[in-house]
Amino acid sequence: MLKEIEILCQLQVLDNKIRAAKKEKERLPKEIEKLENKFNLEQESEKNIKQRLEQNLQRQKKLELDIAANNQEINKYENQLLMVKTNKEYKALNSEITHRKEGNNKIEEQLIGLLEAESALEEEKKHILELLAKDKKALEKEKKKINIKIDELIKEIAQQEREKIELSKEIPDVLFRRYQRLIEHKDGKAIATIENGVCSGCHFRVRPQIIVEVAKGDSIITCENCSRILVAPRKSAKGG
Ligand SMILES: [Zn+2]
Repeated sequence: MLKEIEILCQLQVLDNKIRAAKKEKERLPKEIEKLENKFNLEQESEKNIKQRLEQNLQRQKKLELDIAANNQEINKYENQLLMVKTNKEYKALNSEITHRKEGNNKIEEQLIGLLEAESALEEEKKHILELLAKDKKALEKEKKKINIKIDELIKEIAQQEREKIELSKEIPDVLFRRYQRLIEHKDGKAIATIENGVCSGCHFRVRPQIIVEVAKGDSIITCENCSRILVAPRKSAKGG
């Protein structure tokens, strides 16, 4: 078979590898992005818990001040009780004292509720901090791994591009440029085979006369529909 056709097939194999490596190189940074997004969400949720804890503690402080104020009032009334002269005054003061004590009981209940919420938030905070520490390590490790892979791919692509240039020197420049145009404009596939009578690139039926020409392999034949260079299926191509 024509040596040019064999070289073109080898070029296509190289281009397939280059294309796959480039695709992978573009995909990998998105993996890092996904991990970073997950980590950022966890950080947000930690911030949120911290805020809720702060609000809870402020609320506790305020309620404790309310209790202290009530106690001060109760003290004041109890001192006044010692000096009252009428039954009516006594009753009025007692009722004030009872009212404040009941108020304090309600506040105590609220405080217990807040303390329970505080414990739950502390638990949540502990859990998310553990998660953050773990995921930070995993993120760093994964980033390193992915960056190494990207570096390897860059080297691999450069090597394959060099091989491609070397290989291209073995065919006429005009043929290589034609091939290269097809690679750029036909979805990375310049070479198509004839499978069951159709072009593997565009699935257009190939005329029997062309099938015969391609099988001979002594000239460059292109698909009448997609312009890709047609070759006999690989196994027979290798034999020639
Ligand atoms: Zn075609």
